[in-house]
Amino acid sequence: MKSFLLLLLTALSVTSCPQVKEEVQNLHPLFDISEKELMESISDLPAASREKIAAKAQVFLDLILQLLELPEDLLILADKKHILGKQYIPPDLINLEGYSFSLAGNKLELRRMIIPDLLAMVESSREQGLELLISSAYRSYSRQELIYNNNVRSLGREIADRESAKPGHSQHQLGTTIDFGSIDDGFASHPSGIWLAEHGWQFGFSLSYPPDNEKITGYRYEPWHYRYIGRHAARITREFFLNEQQYFLEFWEQKSSFFRKIRIR
Ligand SMILES: [Zn+2]
Repeated sequence: MKSFLLLLLTALSVTSCPQVKEEVQNLHPLFDISEKELMESISDLPAASREKIAAKAQVFLDLILQLLELPEDLLILADKKHILGKQYIPPDLINLEGYSFSLAGNKLELRRMIIPDLLAMVESSREQGLELLISSAYRSYSRQELIYNNNVRSLGREIADRESAKPGHSQHQLGTTIDFGSIDDGFASHPSGIWLAEHGWQFGFSLSYPPDNEKITGYRYEPWHYRYIGRHAARITREFFLNEQQYFLEFWEQKSSFFRKIRIR
């Protein structure tokens, strides 16, 4: 009887006690994050981008979860402000000869990890009667140095900076970037250029320098230049970052460690 009374008293005290902290619901079962915290983490993004994330927060977080599985150097920034350095050489470079690609030279190299998606993309374009020509791929620091210096000599420094990257700043040094076709403005209206712009993202390839965004990337429109960022990153860029690779990569550089920290194991 005594223990029954004690139990009753304990139960009463628990139920009558007001809850100190209101329980905040997580947005995703595998992230310790509330809606308010998510909105804070994306506060630097353009309004149109924030609206899309707010409307489909679970889809967004699900894609983020996939990105956390990728090798970190796949999504590093190599732009006007971020240098890779002389010593950066991708760990798994391979020569493209021996694959069924159309190549504009015999010394073209890329990272081995991007080959399965590149093969799938080439195969898919062939089903449409197209042939994607790989005109330029990996460039070492010293090769980029040569190209940049030649451009400065022939075009002057100002134009050279719009058209080519300084050594250490080129996405081509990553071994995941390809120039397709003619490498000129005409590629935008070439059937291969049109197909790539529509379908490249489905295979993880993202147009690095879209039209009219020189202010964002520092480069003029390059319809031939695609960086492989993987299928999930290409999708998140398209759906949530206004299809601006630069916005996505800058966001990832600033926030990837935050999402890694709040991930529920
Ligand atoms: Zn390029």
